[in-house]
Amino acid sequence: MSRIACGVALLAGVLLSAPMASTPYTFHTYASMVAELQQLALDHPALAEYFTAQDAYGLPAVPDGAQQLVHPILRITNEALGLDKAEILLVGSQHGDEVVGMEVGVATARLLLESYGTDPWLTELVDRREIYILPLANPHGFNHGVRWSPGTESGSEDMNRDHLYDRDPCSFFCQDENSLSTVGARAIHELARRHLFRVMLDYHGGTELIIHPWGTPMHDADDESPDDRAHALLGQRMSSYGGPFRGVYPVGRSNSLLGSVFAPLDDTAYAASWDAGNADPLWPTAGWRSLAYTVEISNQKTPPQSTLGGDATILTPGGAEDGYVAKNVRIALATIDLIEPYVVWTNRAALPAQVGVGETVTVEWEVRGCFEVDDTHVRFGGDPDPRINFTGQSTTQQQSSGDPCFDGPTQFSAQVTLPSAGTWYLTPVAQVDSTLLTQVSPVPGATPPQSWVARARTQEGVLGINMTDPNEVNTVRGQLYWGAEPLAIQVGASEIFSDGFESGDLSVWSVVVQ
Ligand SMILES: [Zn+2]
Repeated sequence: MSRIACGVALLAGVLLSAPMASTPYTFHTYASMVAELQQLALDHPALAEYFTAQDAYGLPAVPDGAQQLVHPILRITNEALGLDKAEILLVGSQHGDEVVGMEVGVATARLLLESYGTDPWLTELVDRREIYILPLANPHGFNHGVRWSPGTESGSEDMNRDHLYDRDPCSFFCQDENSLSTVGARAIHELARRHLFRVMLDYHGGTELIIHPWGTPMHDADDESPDDRAHALLGQRMSSYGGPFRGVYPVGRSNSLLGSVFAPLDDTAYAASWDAGNADPLWPTAGWRSLAYTVEISNQKTPPQSTLGGDATILTPGGAEDGYVAKNVRIALATIDLIEPYVVWTNRAALPAQVGVGETVTVEWEVRGCFEVDDTHVRFGGDPDPRINFTGQSTTQQQSSGDPCFDGPTQFSAQVTLPSAGTWYLTPVAQVDSTLLTQVSPVPGATPPQSWVARARTQEGVLGINMTDPNEVNTVRGQLYWGAEPLAIQVGASEIFSDGFESGDLSVWSVVVQ
């Protein structure tokens, strides 16, 4: 089954996407969700890996009558480019009756996989990211149309009160003495132990909001997290790109907009690692430094199927066939984009492989995965990694007003004159988002930003490394300047042969790099 039938033409090296045929989103059953994820992995073996928390982590299945329910997980990434990339986790339906979250997970997976190689932006995301999707954290509650999940403490636990952070205030509102007593919470924890998720999105329903830490009773309603600036900016990006369907989502701190709950996933994903003193000491907490959001999708936990929308204009906020699934797939994409900065050439294919000494080359590029461009220019030199080792640079380019990094990003351009004969390497570079260091009154006080997202673009060096899974080392590397793949240009003497080729040092012509 191919949901998307995009016509694509290759014209002058540019991918042109024709309008997509529309397919309305429909509700899945547990079985059809499992089958669809398995089929997506079979259809896209180089991009998708299907596994279950039971097979991968040895967790128990959840009995439901004669059935043994499992927790399917899909990993989406271009595996040929390795498995040490910026990682993100999408979680759906911890509350079993809040069903649209599962649909968002499945639809996001399908869109990314079926757009690979045709949509340039979505292809970049699959190449550059490792996207983990657990669409149905609570299969038993889902099958019975209830919020609750069976757990080791009782037959009806609230999974979103079963995580590691903030166990202390349990005395004033506590149905759940122990952490991770539901299999779904364990599955999320096992994922978090092995990875370094830059962002975690947790889809719910029952109201329409995007909320972020703080969200536990140990913090007051207006307490700012040390990453409040990053949380707010990404929340606004999500809300804006989600768009106007049934109203643009308000964005704010959980404690202020919805009220506090103890041991929720979002505060756990954000703080359990660096504020381990307030997390359950019985479980390892390393890794969690995610910007973390609860997305409350729809006022009705199970809205009419006609409100899910379709994929006809999935990348257009407020477009035709918009709906709750389309809106939240866009929110997932905006978030996947933001988790790490990247710089993209936009005229690389048009640049000459050779120029004469003193000739000028025009470099054009975009800076993505960011909120603001603080500085961007072209670096060049004789070293193959001119982002680090450069002997010259262009003038700094100014960002235009508005949103320079996303959904129609600013096109930067600079003139570069390569000064002497030889092989020169060029790359556009960018410094971004120093704004994320802005704080007003963080709680805990005097705590600088802790998230991978803020730190990786404001600090140099290896900030985190996770080798829990012997098959996959994950690293967070901070950079003040982000670059694109360097381009080699041969600079020769500028005397012109009659056939139009340049002469100069003929001996170097054989090492021209295209
Ligand atoms: Zn919920």
